[in-house]
Amino acid sequence: MPPISFEHVTKRFGDVRVVEEFDLEVADGELLVLVGGSGSGKSTILRMLAGLETVTTGRIRIGDRDVTALSPKARDVAMVFQDYALYPHMTVRENLSLGLKLRGVARAEIERRVAWAAGILGLEPLLDRRPKALSGGQRQRVAMGRAMVREPAAFLFDEPLSNLDAGLRAQMRVEIGALQRRLGTTTIYVTHDQVEAMTLGDRIVVLANGRVQQVGRPIDLYRAPANRFVAGFIGTPP
Ligand code: ADP
Ligand code: MG
Repeated sequence: MPPISFEHVTKRFGDVRVVEEFDLEVADGELLVLVGGSGSGKSTILRMLAGLETVTTGRIRIGDRDVTALSPKARDVAMVFQDYALYPHMTVRENLSLGLKLRGVARAEIERRVAWAAGILGLEPLLDRRPKALSGGQRQRVAMGRAMVREPAAFLFDEPLSNLDAGLRAQMRVEIGALQRRLGTTTIYVTHDQVEAMTLGDRIVVLANGRVQQVGRPIDLYRAPANRFVAGFIGTPP
């Protein structure tokens, strides 16, 4: 049983079809990249998986559970956003702890997980700072740490690096890839950036107007793009 599957998932906002007949199976431990232009439906797909948006038709499974009708809290996924969504009045330690506290995790276990994530992400010297005293890259690490301490079945990244400058973006991309491999946590990573997609993804799903154009490994997309849209998007030479 794959840890995540979408079965014929469709999303409409009023009369507007935003996602059409979306089918996907993400394998255990896989880093799957969802790539497409602005408005192609990437965030909507992630938000439906996280339970932040309802599904119009179709089904979503995580592991052997049908989660289509479950609340966000009941789904074992952790989302990392582009704007970090850190609490400005709380320290890094508090930002990392809060979600676990609200879930009723015992204090010693919270401390263990925060120390573990801070160690891996290099956040130990920053635990008592507030977000405004951190650089963009450090804030992004805190946002990742907050997802890590949940020890979820899957990480969902929604354009996590869009607010960073080009140099830092390249560095954080490498860090996220290394972290995902180290933890082995199933990940769906959304981006509009072809380079990010091609360097990070075990497999890539190319979306346009809410429809899947192609699913494959980076090398497959490069060698045999399914159509001109994919070829243009990936930048395959003619
Ligand atoms: P992406 O993340 O690829 O940029 P989105 O999933 O955010 O795309 O949006 C896909 C389409 O759905 C866009 O045309 C957007 O305007 C529309 N959309 C997203 N959320 C809503 C909403 N809550 N109500 C109406 N339309 C929406
Ligand atoms: Mg989006």
